[in-house]
Amino acid sequence: MIAALGLVGLVLAGSALPRRIDADIPPPPAPFGDSLEFRDRELGTGTTLFVNFAGIDLGECSPSNSKKSCTWYNFDEAIPPFSGSLQIQVSVMQAIRRDVADFGVRVTGLRPPDDENYVMVVYGGTEAKYGALGSAPSGDCFDQSPNEVAFAHLDGETVAWVNGGATTTLHEAAHTWGLDHVDFENEVMYPSSDNRPTAFAQGCNPIVENTDLDPGGVGCPEVNALFCDADDQQSAIPLLAMLFGPPYVDTIAPSLALDGIEDGEYFQAPASFEIALLVADDLHPQPYEMWAWMGDDPRPEQPTLVLAPGFSVEALPVGSWEFHVVVADEAGHESAQLDFTIEVGLDPPPEPDEDGAGCRVAPAPVRAGPVRAGMVVLCVGPLLLARRRRRR
Ligand SMILES: [Zn+2]
Repeated sequence: MIAALGLVGLVLAGSALPRRIDADIPPPPAPFGDSLEFRDRELGTGTTLFVNFAGIDLGECSPSNSKKSCTWYNFDEAIPPFSGSLQIQVSVMQAIRRDVADFGVRVTGLRPPDDENYVMVVYGGTEAKYGALGSAPSGDCFDQSPNEVAFAHLDGETVAWVNGGATTTLHEAAHTWGLDHVDFENEVMYPSSDNRPTAFAQGCNPIVENTDLDPGGVGCPEVNALFCDADDQQSAIPLLAMLFGPPYVDTIAPSLALDGIEDGEYFQAPASFEIALLVADDLHPQPYEMWAWMGDDPRPEQPTLVLAPGFSVEALPVGSWEFHVVVADEAGHESAQLDFTIEVGLDPPPEPDEDGAGCRVAPAPVRAGPVRAGMVVLCVGPLLLARRRRRR
């Protein structure tokens, strides 16, 4: 069953006005299984919410399938990467994590491994193009089909909506978990959003089918009756606790690798370049603490807070230079230390031959936005490693 909201929802102009969260979507060619026999997961076990900011070209299938990146609508055209900054993405992720902090829901921007259940919310495209802030399949009572695909279209006019982005993402994910709309403003499942913060509610709230708050649209009466006297009311907090169990606990340390530059890479003096690092973590993206230092220097006592670990190196003189980097995630887990060497000489690097062998001056792998370069390595005379500024 699908959240068929009818045509009553208006898409209002002006960013301060409430917006309809769900676009109308076609009914699926193949419905969900209609009984608990189809349950692919145990009640009370955790799930993962994968927010895909990277853009995607979806295939066609029904029901939708996050692992196969396919669905029965929105597959005719690729959805572009979200154009908002990494800072906005991280803020959206943090707002989502706050809202699900009491439940076993991991929230990540990296696609989970195949042996893990996850809903994928594709975060891209505009409200103007898709008709509302998002869309999702609904009616999957008890989240028996845990690997679905939903959409959040916060690009364009609402690109900077952090609360509205988090609400839409979570709202659409929650539809795939079997939750319906409620008539309770500032609840995640309220059918419109104006970028105010929202949360899941404890009490029983009447289920409504559209932005006019008309009663109806009850997808899972038997679930509702577990927690409320009336089967057309929804109590989200005990429902989510039943579905996903206790909070997700981060026990995994981040991993680090060089991105776009190689250990031992050669530059002509004075060498200025950027070190970009590929970081992976179970709760990526997030703010990381980073320690970076050179040679036999001691590791700095104070870390730098960065969203995209990396730093710039300016005017590095002739020599063979060792760098060391460690990052820690928000839970305080530190990565293994990454060590690499950069060679700087007087000669220009040889041109690459036909096979690409030889040296080259790599283009600085600059990332979008002001979140890069939380740290600058400045070399003047005797090598000096200076932390210039801290950015958040
Ligand atoms: Zn909705």
